[in-house]
Formats: sequence, structure tokens, C-alpha cells
Amino acid sequence: SNLDPHVLVIFGASGDLAQRKLVPAVFELFRGGYLPEKFALLGASRTDFTDEAFRNKVIFENEHFKSDGAKEEEIKAFSEKLFYQDLATYDGEKDIKALADRLKKLDKELGVGRNYIFYLSTPPKLYSTIPAALAKAGLNNNQDAWARLIVEKPFGYNEQSAIKLNREIQEHFPENTIYRIDHYLGKETVQNLLVTRFANGFFEPLWNRNYVQSVQITAAETVGVGSRGGYYDESGAMRDMVQNHLLQVLAHVAMEPPIRADAPSIRNEKLKLFQSLRPITKKDVKTHVVRGQYTEGITSEGKEVAYRDSPGVPEKSKTETYVAMKFFIDNWRWAGVPFFVRTGKCLPLKLTEVVITFKNPPQAIFAEYDDYAMSCDNQLIIRIQPDEGMALEFGMKVPGEGFRVKNVDMDFFYRDLTKNDVPEAYTRLLLDCMKGEPTLYARGDSVEAAWAFVDPILEAWEKDEVPLYSYPAGSWGPLQADALWSGGLGNGWRNPTSSLTDRK
Ligand code: NAP
Repeated sequence: SNLDPHVLVIFGASGDLAQRKLVPAVFELFRGGYLPEKFALLGASRTDFTDEAFRNKVIFENEHFKSDGAKEEEIKAFSEKLFYQDLATYDGEKDIKALADRLKKLDKELGVGRNYIFYLSTPPKLYSTIPAALAKAGLNNNQDAWARLIVEKPFGYNEQSAIKLNREIQEHFPENTIYRIDHYLGKETVQNLLVTRFANGFFEPLWNRNYVQSVQITAAETVGVGSRGGYYDESGAMRDMVQNHLLQVLAHVAMEPPIRADAPSIRNEKLKLFQSLRPITKKDVKTHVVRGQYTEGITSEGKEVAYRDSPGVPEKSKTETYVAMKFFIDNWRWAGVPFFVRTGKCLPLKLTEVVITFKNPPQAIFAEYDDYAMSCDNQLIIRIQPDEGMALEFGMKVPGEGFRVKNVDMDFFYRDLTKNDVPEAYTRLLLDCMKGEPTLYARGDSVEAAWAFVDPILEAWEKDEVPLYSYPAGSWGPLQADALWSGGLGNGWRNPTSSLTDRK
């Protein structure tokens, strides 16, 4: 490994995320030989654990710990790099002092040095207090060493709170040391959007208003809120999915070519894209955005109770579990091209995909041979998950008399490129932070710009200026979402299939 020695401090280490994602991701890095020789992971939270008990919880008794093929010695060697510090509170002076002392001790005993990554995996209300407490103890700023801060989602609740949070954190950690995580950016297929567009000569010339009819992004989940109703009800689909993950995907689909593939160049282009989004003003919300909430129904997971009857959800909750929207990007490339985004819980399939629909040829000279007038779709389908890959749909001649046209697929599956599993997002993102490589993290200004775009919609909803539609669990959401396409904008939502090329 060519990484600097360092300590990864996880605040909220007793929690779900540390157990499910973070520790397993660090183990992947350990097994892959990526971690430096001198490395420690220090868990910190209020639960009273010994080092031993912490190791048991996140490794030996952790059902999410992926040890397929790992040797026992390997797991043991990894466990010895994990330590735990309990805190009475997350920002108490005494507590952070104890944490600082522990870090000193780890350095003395193991030579892990004074470089730190602080991972905030706590409830969001601590995202500004912990950095301030770290600063008080001088942990944000070691001479001759680096300190980086990873902040989990949600980053803010609206534009104003995101600006405030940025200011508060930036007071203690300079922007280039703040890593705002958006795990969608850790997905290979999201990064591959940039390679598809900018490493090939033939996509980009078509990637604009002259040839693209519409762009649609779907992120569908089959599950409901389950036991996380209390948490989800504070957030909803717009905050949980659109403001962060789906706008990030959109930025990769729609941004201008960056001058280089480095962090500032790519992040500048993303910001520009967010700034080019035509605002959906309050009066547009009704015609551009549909919100929905699921009622009882049968999904692929079984019978689902209505959202409002889920544990932790208020009886009269107006939180949306589904959102579909239409918007435009006011720049030269995309002028006039409609973009559609939809996401929801309790939908028929679990998948995330981007569909670029290209314009029809100027004349339909084979129409007379065809049973259905326009059976030929020129679509590029980019599967972000689960079966990562891409398919290009186009019309070919049906063998036999005349000129009948049929849609065929040319496809590519990510699994064919590598024998290994496509790396987990958290694994890739943690490694990048360890390297000091922020490209796949969200920059403060673009997080604010993304909030600025969704804020008027959230406000209109809050004031109840537009209806909240219901949809039965297991359906594709409220029918009203189809009307977003009216006015000749295109053929509507693509009906996704469970596997990328499993068509008709
Ligand atoms: P969590 O389990 O609810 O909380 C993490 C830890 O924070 C808890 O174990 C608890 O540790 C501490 N904590 C909980 N409530 C607290 C409170 N009121 N005051 C002080 N400390 C409290 O959360 P998580 O699921 O691990 O997620 C951590 C963060 O990542 C959250 O902000 C979440 O939004 C975000 N996130 C989570 C996921 C996920 O899949 N879980 C995905 C994306 C983002 P102690 O009681 O031991 O201090």
C-alpha cells in the first residue's frame, strides 16, 4: 500500500451503518492490501464497549461482515486493528480529550501516526458539533499531519440548513478536507457514465438537444419503510433520494466535458449543471412534480401495510414515498430537452436506470410495413443497479418480405469485465478518502445548489399547495405521473424489466 499511515475514527460506531457497511468495507480494503501497514480503526460512541466487545459486534458476530473465502488468521489480524473509545457525549470537552489521549496512545504503541479520518456516522444533529469539539482539542489541525472529515447524509434539510452546516464545518475544516459522502458516486456504473461519454468518440456528438428526445432516471425500491418509519418520515423521497443521489446521477449524465478528470474540473462542471437547472417555481410545482404515498398492497416482498400504518409514522403523515418530476436544463446543450426523474418505495422492481431516448428519424419510411406505427425505439439504457450494464435499443429488419422493423438490443454487462464482484460503493469511497482524492465526494457549493433546486418544491408541499396522491404498494406509483409527459414530450416512462435486456 502506498497510503499514508492513519487512524480512521468512526463516530457512531455502535450504529447500523458502521456494522452493515463501514467495517465490512474497511475489511475489503485490508484484504485487498490497500491499507497501510500502520493503520487503526477507532470506533467511538456512547455505548459501553471494550475493544473486545466492539470487535465481536462489528466482526465476529456481524452477519454483514463478508468473509467469504477469508482465512481465520486474516480476520483475526484485521480485528487487531480495531479499537473502541466510549464517550459520555459526542462533544464534551472531557470526552474529546479522552479521544485525543487514546489517539496519542495508539500512535505510541502502534506507530500509526497522527493522520486522521473522522467519519461522522451519527445522527445529523451532531454533524456540526463534533467538528467543533475536535477543533477545540486541536485534532483538526495537526502539524505535519492531515485530518479529514467524512460527513454522512443527509447534508442539511433544505438550502438554508445546508449553507449553515457548510459554514459551521468549514470554520474548523477547510473545504478540501471535507468529504461529503453520496454512496451513489461510489457506484462503478455512475462513474462509468463519465467514461462512456468522454472516452468514446461516438456518444458525445449525439448527446444533446439535436438528437436526444428525452432523458429519464428511475430509482425504484420494492421495500417499504419497514422499521425505519420514524427516520424516513422526517425525510421523504425528495430529500432521501432526489436531492442527493439522483441529482448526482443527473450531473454525470448531463454535465459538460470536464477539462481533465480531476476533482476540481469534474466538480466545477457539476456545479455548473446544477446552476443551469431551470427552477421549478412554486406555481410550476403542480404541473412538474407528482408526489405519492403508498397504501396497503402486495409487493414482491409480500403484503405491505400502508405507509401511514407503519411503526414510527404519524397517522396523518404527508411524507412522500414517491416522487416523479419533469424539468429542463437551460444551457446550449440541453435547451428544450425534457428530463424526468422518478423514485419510490414499494414499486414492482428494485432497480436504478437512466434512459436516453433519441429522436426518431425525420421520416418513417417503413411505417407502412409495420404492425405498430412506431415500434422502433432508439434508447440507450444505463443500468446503475442491480445488473450493472448498458443496452442500446434500435430497429433492425425482421427477416422475410417487406421492411418490417423490430427492436433489438446490444448489451454490455459489467460482470463480464471483471471476475470479481463490482466493488461496493463504500469500499471505493473510503479508499479515495484515505488517498486524499475527493472527486467522488460532493462539494459544498454543489450540495447547496442541489438544495436550491428542490427547495421550492418542498415548500409548496409543506404548505399543502399540491395534492399528495396515493398508490397501492406494488404498483408503479400514482397514475398522475404519466401526465408529466403530456404535450408531445415523448412516449412516457419506460416500463423497466427486472433484467436489463429481458424485453418482450
Ligand atoms: P444509527 O444507528 O441510528 O446511529 C448511529 C449511532 O449514533 C448509534 O449507534 C448511537 O450510538 C448514536 N446515536 C443514536 N441516536 C443518538 C442521539 N439521539 N444522540 C446521540 N447519539 C445518538 O444510525 P446509522 O444507521 O448507523 O447511520 C448513521 C448516519 O449515517 C445517519 O446520519 C444516517 O442518516 C446516515 N446513513 C445511514 C445509512 C444506513 O444504511 N444506516 C445510509 C446512509 C446514511 P451510541 O448510543 O452508542 O452513542
